[in-house]
Amino acid sequence: MKTQVVSDIEVLNNSFLTSNPKLILEHSINNLFKNKIVYVCSFGTESAIILDLISKIDKSLPIIMLNTHFLFEETIKYKNELLKLLRLENYREVFPDEKTLNKYDANDNLWRRDVDQCCNLRKVIPLEKALNNFESWISGRKSYHLGNRQKLKAFELINNKIVVNPLFNSTKAFIEDYFYSNNLPRHPLFEQGYLSIGCRHCTQKTKNIEDPRHGRWSDKNKTECGIHLDRRKS
Ligand code: SF4
Repeated sequence: MKTQVVSDIEVLNNSFLTSNPKLILEHSINNLFKNKIVYVCSFGTESAIILDLISKIDKSLPIIMLNTHFLFEETIKYKNELLKLLRLENYREVFPDEKTLNKYDANDNLWRRDVDQCCNLRKVIPLEKALNNFESWISGRKSYHLGNRQKLKAFELINNKIVVNPLFNSTKAFIEDYFYSNNLPRHPLFEQGYLSIGCRHCTQKTKNIEDPRHGRWSDKNKTECGIHLDRRKS
């Protein structure tokens, strides 16, 4: 199925240009990548929407969180709250390889010296291994988050996997309305001014509502952790 999807990706994107997130998810989970798709979830400020949609489509869909060992305690609590509330059945936590950490980041301070390498060890490599048995993964990126996300499409080919972006064309208003209409809890740090949440070392509060990811690596020339980077092109 994937080979066909890869060759038809442009056609697929054109046919889902104005589709709602549920339709994109349903088609991906039930048809295109049946039993070969996973949601890679940060349990950040807007993750509850895709989790809620998945709970209405297939509660046994695998869900992965990349646990870098540097997540906020509030994120872990929020993750537990959402999994229980939505009765999601197939959660898996992925950690960095201990031997690799001992070799390159024994003092847990690589993030101070080299954020790209730190993300590589704690996110990119662990995800690559975790995706081994999947053809496709779901991502929560949205084009209104600016940067290179502005050009997002519903389906992308990244590192030989199809990445499904059900919220690619969702607006901030849609996100707010979805939380309200479905009575979903917000991340506890959201109310405190964190508009996008990753590791505690690299996440700041921000008042820049036009650029919600402004608080990520805010003192560095970095905007993405690298899991969405196509390494065949770099
Ligand atoms: S976000 Fe920061 S702490 Fe987390 S893996 Fe990347 S560089 Fe390391």
